[in-house]
Amino acid sequence: MSSAATFGLPRVIGHRGAAIVAPENTLAAFRVAAAMGVAMVEFDVKLTADGRPVVFHDDTLFRTTNGHGRLRDATLEELERLDAGSWFEPAFTGERVPTLEVVLSFLASVGVGAVIELKPCPETDERTAQIAVAAALEYWPSDQPPPLLSSFSRRALRAARAVAPAWPQGLIVDRLPEDWHEAAAALQIVTLHCQERHLSPVAVAEIKRAGLAVLAWTVNDPQRARTLWKWGVEAVISDVPDEILAEAP
Ligand code: MG
Repeated sequence: MSSAATFGLPRVIGHRGAAIVAPENTLAAFRVAAAMGVAMVEFDVKLTADGRPVVFHDDTLFRTTNGHGRLRDATLEELERLDAGSWFEPAFTGERVPTLEVVLSFLASVGVGAVIELKPCPETDERTAQIAVAAALEYWPSDQPPPLLSSFSRRALRAARAVAPAWPQGLIVDRLPEDWHEAAAALQIVTLHCQERHLSPVAVAEIKRAGLAVLAWTVNDPQRARTLWKWGVEAVISDVPDEILAEAP
């Protein structure tokens, strides 16, 4: 297993950019996060109908765009006609659903690190991972620290490993599953991304003893972030990374 110690994590990671401050998973959100001084952002990747990796969270379009129906049924060209900002605030009208290429190019240009969550639509785990990670390998500069690949889907992580064997991986979980230790070894992950509500000092200590770094999602309360750091959590993923950064030791 690669060592978590060799993998540099900041204290605070921007969730979908900075999801309370700007429309999630848009370039505006990543620009805002970069301007806040956030060193790393998390975002979600899915495939369009024509197999293009885009940065988007839901299986359906209605919550975060002015479109309808399923993301997987829309081509990239159709997606790029949608507005992904006005639902959030009129000031963000005109924001688009960005491709993975555009997001990675932006982040690399400003020196912000990436946690790429592979978020396959149902039954596309391997294909989503293969296409997204191959694209990320192509677009991410090899002289910068590689992105951290994360997913709830173990199938996606296994497929990603075949494409980018050296890139670090993290498994996302809600409650800590009984087999987390075996899964960590089998997947060779370096981070475990836990729902912060289900963490305890004992759980954090056990995970760290297994050689893994602990990430907690989603932490928007600065006092909770301080507690989690005290327990040994390496990084918290936050919708308000500026407010949490202000508390970071
Ligand atoms: Mg995510």
